[in-house]
Amino acid sequence: MSSFKDGATERAARKIASLSPELRSLTEEGARIIKSGGLVAFPTETVYGLGANALDPDAVASIYEAKGRPSDNPLILHVSSVEMAERVVEINARALLLIDAFWPGPLSVVLPAKDIVPPRTRGGLPTAAVRMPDSAPALALIEMSGLPIAAPSANISGRPSPTDAQTVRSDMGDRIPLVIDGGDTRFGVESTVVDMTGEHAVLLRPGGVSKEDLEKTLDEEVLLPQDQQIIKRSPGTRYRHYAPSVPLVLCAAHLVPEESRKWAWMGIKEPGGTPCAAVLFKNKAEYAKGLFRALRMLEKSGAEVIYAESPDEAGIGRALKDRLERAAGK
Ligand code: AMP
Ligand code: MG
Repeated sequence: MSSFKDGATERAARKIASLSPELRSLTEEGARIIKSGGLVAFPTETVYGLGANALDPDAVASIYEAKGRPSDNPLILHVSSVEMAERVVEINARALLLIDAFWPGPLSVVLPAKDIVPPRTRGGLPTAAVRMPDSAPALALIEMSGLPIAAPSANISGRPSPTDAQTVRSDMGDRIPLVIDGGDTRFGVESTVVDMTGEHAVLLRPGGVSKEDLEKTLDEEVLLPQDQQIIKRSPGTRYRHYAPSVPLVLCAAHLVPEESRKWAWMGIKEPGGTPCAAVLFKNKAEYAKGLFRALRMLEKSGAEVIYAESPDEAGIGRALKDRLERAAGK
């Protein structure tokens, strides 16, 4: 790498330069907190993250503590340049194809970790996940800190991920000194996680970059792990996630059963029957973007059960369906 500036890093630098003066000063404050071992919540293009210095085991421990997150669930390291990624993982040629194509963007790449990454950050695994977020405040925070930032979603473990700053404050406000408000996030579901440590690329978590996009760039089939394998390779996928406080049931719009309970609906089509509350989306991308907020809204609507339309798996549909199934407790 080194002598020339790679495309991903150049795109990140341009993004950082576009940051507004107000966000810049908030981000400077955030960088001071990160460098002194503290926690900062910040927007990315996927969901809001709860960040700390990825290389400081004590700072990382405070992320787990604030979220109530199981300690064997590894964190993603957020970087602002390819060079910073090279400080923490061994990048191979196929991974570099993905980096060139999708960074900055919602793609986390699992690679062999370098010793500088504390075991606590990677849940004791020999590998680490890295990504370059496509968000000016996120990139600036990393760049100004000069450190890779470990960041899971900024919610209490098990709850729907936050896609706006207000939700972060209501979940975590008293536990973190600074929430950088960058407005609503663009994707609404977390990054795609792809394991590039083996002979075949393995999709550990579907997200904003689709399986089809990965296959086109790599010119190879991307494998879906078997259940046993995915639990071993990506412990986070084992835990209950995104759960609203009332039961969620997936079904087609025309198949909502007769209900004696008050029920709510979310989906693209109008449901049969009369819900007490409903959130309708224009398409799958909008559904993914608004999913977590809709869950949080409908659980407060007085409904005793939420019915949600199950989408097809093309493009962003795979990630959307994955989050819906987890929220339904499958
Ligand atoms: P979250 O921070 O909640 O978005 O979750 C991060 C996701 O990335 C979880 O599903 C983790 O299991 C996964 N992950 C992070 N690091 C690794 C790694 N080294 N190997 C496999 N999966 C990982
Ligand atoms: Mg999360």
